[in-house]
Order: sequence, then C-alpha cells, then structure tokens
Amino acid sequence: MAPRPDLGPRPRLGYAASRVDRAAERRTDAEALRGFESDGRARAYVVGGELVVLRKADGALDPLFSCAAARAFEGAAETAFLGLVDGAPRFAVAIEPAAAAALKGNDTFEVTDLRSIAVRGLVEAEHLPALAEGKALLNWHARHRFCPNCGSATQPVEAGWRRDCPACKTQHFPRTDPVAIMLPVAGDRCVLGRSHRFQPGMWSCLAGYIEPGEAIEDAVRRETREEAGIVCGRVAYFASQPWPFPTSLMIGCHAEAISHDIVIDRTELADARWFDREEVALMLRRQHHEGFTAPVPVAIAYHIIRAWVEDGVEFG
Ligand SMILES: [Zn+2]
Repeated sequence: MAPRPDLGPRPRLGYAASRVDRAAERRTDAEALRGFESDGRARAYVVGGELVVLRKADGALDPLFSCAAARAFEGAAETAFLGLVDGAPRFAVAIEPAAAAALKGNDTFEVTDLRSIAVRGLVEAEHLPALAEGKALLNWHARHRFCPNCGSATQPVEAGWRRDCPACKTQHFPRTDPVAIMLPVAGDRCVLGRSHRFQPGMWSCLAGYIEPGEAIEDAVRRETREEAGIVCGRVAYFASQPWPFPTSLMIGCHAEAISHDIVIDRTELADARWFDREEVALMLRRQHHEGFTAPVPVAIAYHIIRAWVEDGVEFG
C-alpha cells in the first residue's frame, strides 16, 4: 500500500473546544447573576440574527463590549448568560437584525456574519465557541416568543436558558438539531458530494438531519443511501462540532461503503462521485489539477476527510 499523505499541522476546528465554563448551576441564582452583571470583568457579545457586531480597536476587531454598551445598542432584546471565562462573566445580547445591519456603515464597527468571522479569522479563535453558543441561543429566543402549546407570549427565565409560558405553564428549553455528516469510504476511495449551493469545484461530505427516533448510525446509512444510492455497513464516530446556523450540532462519522454504484438524488445533491486518496489529498492542499477543493478547515467536513486521507479509518 502506498504511504498515506502527510498534510502537515492540523488546523483548528471552528466553534469547538470552548473555554466557557457554563456555570449552569448559577442560572437560577438571582444574586449570583446580579453579581455577574455588575462584575467589572463582565463582557458581552452583540448578535443580530446572522450578524455579529465587532468593535474596531487598534487595528484589530474586538467582539466584546461592556454589558452596558451592549444593551445600549438600538434594538437590544434578550440577554443570555453564556458562562465564565477564567472567572470573568460572559454574556450575549441580541439586537434586532435590522439594527445590526444599520451599523454596517458605521466607522466604529465591523458588522458581518459569523461564518465570515470564522473563515476569515477576524477575531481570536477562542471567541468562536462562545459566539456559537450565543448566536444559537439567541436565535432560539427569537423563534420562540410564543408558546407552541397554547400560543401565548413566553418569557425568558434562568439567565436566558429557558422560556416559560405564563398561560399553560409549559417550560420551553433551547433546542439543538443533530445533523449526521459522513464520509463513505471503501479502501483507498471515498464518496464526496456537491450541494447545489456550493461554490464551483468544492466537494464535501454528505450530510442530513437526524430524524426523531433515529440512531446516528441509522441516519448515516439512510442519508448516504438516499442522497448517493450507496449502501453503508459499519459506522465510526469521528468528532462533533457546534454549527450555529441556526442551531445544529454536526456529528461527524466515517461510513463503510459496501456498494459501488452511485445514484444521485438531484433534489438534494448537484453531484456525487468516488475519489481516490491521492486526489482528495490534492483537494485538501488546494493543488488539484481541475481546481477541485475540499471545505475550509473551520468546518468539520475538512477534518473528517483529512483524517481518512492521513490515517485511514478503523471500523470497530
Ligand atoms: Zn402555553
């Protein structure tokens, strides 16, 4: 067997490895929360829908504001307690998306979406997990202002980690939507697909939402068969990644492909095909002769693909 490619140091996965101690036990402690808000070290992210407000400071971009400054933005809505970073309280403040967009012309701020912040490295990487936490949580608030049980207006409680319905007394908790994202492999070959929304030349893993009552492994096999017509056997978990667009959790897997012929579901995929390891290594290096590329290193798909290229996969 040919030696496997070595692509050098591995870049960091985006939005993962959070430094935030969520201090969940303090969310019901009103006195502790008042103390956190008045703490001189407290800082807040400002999120307006898909947009994040960054402050221009000494040639860099700072995503942190004092709590008072964050709440002073026009259109400020919910505040959520994200947790503690080295003991310093960290919050996220929602502002109306239109109010965030209106700041785009302001010289004091840089206002852009979280994907761009991550891909372009606009802030220190350590902020990405906390921004993902804040963005996903605030998105849930924006979409759950009314009780799905009885239709009454709900109220945020527990420092932003629950909404209660005063009419029917139902408690509503923030949701996370699990997505299976997988690379079907067979020896030195793997299957990559192209979504209709991908940039030209980019190929990636297959992916799909895990359905109610479905195991991760079953979702991997179902999605692979539905999208590409490939039958898979064993499934190996690789890693997971918060994906706050809006509230997903990507669950990365490798899958053992046990059939060969690809049948593409054209409503789901623009294309899918087999690639060999050397070709995928060139795509990861951005040296492919046809200009094909793999996803950016911020995304877990890059890491799922690269792990197979460099290390192969052991199915237990
Ligand atoms: Zn209700």
